[in-house]
Amino acid sequence: MKEKLIDYWMNRGLVKDDNIIKAFKEIPREDFVLDEYRSQAYIDIALPIIEGQTISQPSTIMIMTQALEPKKTDKILEIGSGSGYQSALLSKLCKKIYTIERIPSVAEFARQNLKKSKIKNVEVIEADGTLGYKKGSPYDKIIVTAASPKIPKKLLEQLKEEGTIVIPVGSSLSCEMIKAKKFRGKLKKESLGHFSFVPLIGKEGYD
Ligand code: SAH
Repeated sequence: MKEKLIDYWMNRGLVKDDNIIKAFKEIPREDFVLDEYRSQAYIDIALPIIEGQTISQPSTIMIMTQALEPKKTDKILEIGSGSGYQSALLSKLCKKIYTIERIPSVAEFARQNLKKSKIKNVEVIEADGTLGYKKGSPYDKIIVTAASPKIPKKLLEQLKEEGTIVIPVGSSLSCEMIKAKKFRGKLKKESLGHFSFVPLIGKEGYD
């Protein structure tokens, strides 16, 4: 089942970096879903976790990971830890990941899942991620895994010059995945298509 997904991505040219495929092979997605969904871990769908939140669809995670162009030296900020799976993948591709989760029990869920894979370079922080995380800034890349009404100002501030942000902008059911690079303090944007995500809730997000 895992191989089928990999073939699908390679055939469609959706993932171009072999290291991303390697990371996908290494991280057991079944350890990041609820026990009752373990058998569905490699079906290309989003799955419910706790507190009405979700682990994103594998293809969506791959598109976002590829868009980030992860490098071994990168320091990354993720907003929306959820299951911890996205940060687990990035942990294999980058130097350090700070991931922010607003719901404390979900943050704990992510921590426990990451522990199973003995991942040490991911820090899960309970906070409103729409304000970023100043302590770890500036970041080489920022990834937001919840639908945001706009690109939060603080995230732009905490991104390095020539850094990349990948963020779904718009409503929960239909948001546009934006990949943007920061040049002279301004963002140069491109669209990666439409997706659905749970909403980003916070000061610079939805109410
Ligand atoms: N990246 C996750 C999927 C995240 S689902 C994974 O790999 O499984 C989106 C998550 O964003 C949810 O857990 C939700 O609680 C969280 N979230 C929503 N608004 C947030 C905010 N302002 N700050 C931090 N986390 C937020």
